[in-house]
Amino acid sequence: MKSEHFIRNFESGIAETIKKYKLLDKKDKVIVACSGGKDSTTVLYLLHKFGFKPHALFIDLDMGKWSEINKQNIKKFCGELGIKLHIVSLKKQYGCGICYIKSVIRSKYNLNQCIICGIIKRWILNRESRKLGMTKIVTGHNLDDEAQNVLMNWMKGNMKLSLNLGPKTGTIEDKKFVTRIKPLYFMLEKDIKKYSKLRNFPVQYKRCPCAIGTYRIDLRQILDEMKNGRKIKQNIVENFLKMLPKMRKYFNSENSALKYCTVCEEPSRNDICNRCKLMEKFVH
Ligand code: AMP
Ligand code: ZN
Repeated sequence: MKSEHFIRNFESGIAETIKKYKLLDKKDKVIVACSGGKDSTTVLYLLHKFGFKPHALFIDLDMGKWSEINKQNIKKFCGELGIKLHIVSLKKQYGCGICYIKSVIRSKYNLNQCIICGIIKRWILNRESRKLGMTKIVTGHNLDDEAQNVLMNWMKGNMKLSLNLGPKTGTIEDKKFVTRIKPLYFMLEKDIKKYSKLRNFPVQYKRCPCAIGTYRIDLRQILDEMKNGRKIKQNIVENFLKMLPKMRKYFNSENSALKYCTVCEEPSRNDICNRCKLMEKFVH
């Protein structure tokens, strides 16, 4: 496919997802969670192009050169497009970076590194976005991520973990929760990479150096090696979306009431939220 044709198809595919799933309207105040990677940079670029006037939020995890390059890249990108960039530094907040935080947590809990990092990032994203008066948080999750997530949750035998999947979060409604949306939901990772390269975005294409030895890596490899990988990923996600409303209804009826964490006052299902439980040594 010619580049211009590919670019046009790619961009209209994302505009269609936004429209079909009512992800955004012009009244929304939007912030894109930017890692400095190809996915979030692509979605930031397109929301800017579509006229949604997005802000960007970068969490500086302080992972040495990796974080530094990502930070410089996203600063440059936002500077060139005139996008307001907010930076939250773990080191400023807690006096250390994510690697030390994870090592302390892992000395007590047998948890995968990416799960710990995800809990901390989501907590920061929600809190910062709310403080800035944002109505939607955008992430760069794509079709590959989502197909892997659906399968991982099946494999773990925990269906409840899938309730927050889908192009728009929707299980918990609370004035302190900012809705998260995924405009790249139906886009293959390899197409996003191609688009990002065609547009010459200043991004690193290497994967996070900490993401090792996870289910996700095995699944990515299996799905990528299958014939008809594109169709298989689409089928996994589309069938999951058919079940999701029923799953949400079923599990919500047995939901315990939402509370506020007694430590940080963020919304939580328990007295102490996951972030405060894991970070007890840093926040108590
Ligand atoms: P990951 O959890 O690393 O697969 O990233 C999933 C999405 O989370 C990315 O597409 C970004 O939207 C967001 N994200 C990841 N890392 C960061 C970060 N350091 N700062 C802000 N957002 C991030
Ligand atoms: Zn808390």
